[in-house]
Amino acid sequence: MRATSQRLYYDDSYTTRFQTTVETGGEWEGRPAVELAATYFYPESGGQLGDRGTLETTEVLDVQSDEQGRVWHLVGVPLEPGQSVSAEVAWSRRFDFMQQHTGQHVLSAAFERMADAATLSSHLGAERNSIEIALADATWERVRDIETAANRVLWEDRPVECHWVEDTDLARFDLRKPPPRDRAGSQGRIRIVQIPDWDTSACGGTHTRRTGEVGAIKVLRWEKVRGNVRFEFVCGSRALEDHAWRAEAMVEAARRHTLRDRDLLAHLERAMAERDDLRKQLQDLGERMLVAEARERTGNPPRPVRDFAESRGRGDLRTLAIKCVEAGAPWVVAGTASPEPMVIAARARQGGLDLKGLVPGLLERARGRGGGSPELITVAAVDRECARAAYDWLVGEIESRTA
Ligand SMILES: [Zn+2]
Repeated sequence: MRATSQRLYYDDSYTTRFQTTVETGGEWEGRPAVELAATYFYPESGGQLGDRGTLETTEVLDVQSDEQGRVWHLVGVPLEPGQSVSAEVAWSRRFDFMQQHTGQHVLSAAFERMADAATLSSHLGAERNSIEIALADATWERVRDIETAANRVLWEDRPVECHWVEDTDLARFDLRKPPPRDRAGSQGRIRIVQIPDWDTSACGGTHTRRTGEVGAIKVLRWEKVRGNVRFEFVCGSRALEDHAWRAEAMVEAARRHTLRDRDLLAHLERAMAERDDLRKQLQDLGERMLVAEARERTGNPPRPVRDFAESRGRGDLRTLAIKCVEAGAPWVVAGTASPEPMVIAARARQGGLDLKGLVPGLLERARGRGGGSPELITVAAVDRECARAAYDWLVGEIESRTA
């Protein structure tokens, strides 16, 4: 049995249809998988996802490589060893990854050249890519400069050259990215990927022939992680798609408010400040109304307050109860059917009644959760009927105990 699978994509990442034989049938993490005599399928590695495609009519669901460097094609239906198969790599997905991956070489080299900042790790996802860069922080201006330099390398349509060297020859190259520790499948040789006068890396991934095919490189956002900066970026058609929805969202938002696109952020800031201000005013007003309501319900001379509302917010219910007590009510029971069915009770500080002692009986009727102190209790009910039953019971209990 061979130690490694023959990986044809190393020297040709553009062939997608090929004829081969099923070498071994097996399993990958409990799912049926086959090893092929030779394969153009790229297995997940180096931060890049594995290919998809078909073997005859069987779907290739994922491609992985094991510690011996053997490539396993995960299939929906097991295939017999020795069987000849026509294989096809799903090209649009592969080409998309080639764009993202080659773009990552170009972008990482731009960070290295323009900011003297190394790429510590990279991840190419099905939607977004990220690279962690040894930088303390970033600004949009700085990022724009680096992005422009990277895209200029695309516009110059430089070749992306791949060649194999022996371990001993490695010292001749000034590598941005050293060879990976896991070199299963490389058979002792090292694959060097070079973009002339820009980037030289040891890499086993799939690349476009020329930088122009990457199309575009766009940084979308960044965040600080572990003292470094992680940048999210997209290349190729993903950059266009991303631009498309952002442009639509921004232009539409501006149009609906008769603004210019460029004024949108300032407008949003103003609108949010105004909203916060209004929210505060509304809160003050609401509280003043609750104080007035509490005074009216409490009356003069003060009497106990019983109130079950169809709809009152949790905060308002609590404020009403407290304000009634402050207005002199000896006790208050306030309930609401919605939005959260609940019951609150409070009593004057000098009153002798222990409300907390009533919680078990209240919970039994409310079938909910709650608790509190001898002076104030809150219970949430499962529904409006239980809230009402709990309210009625509590009013009756307090009335009988204070009579
Ligand atoms: Zn690469």
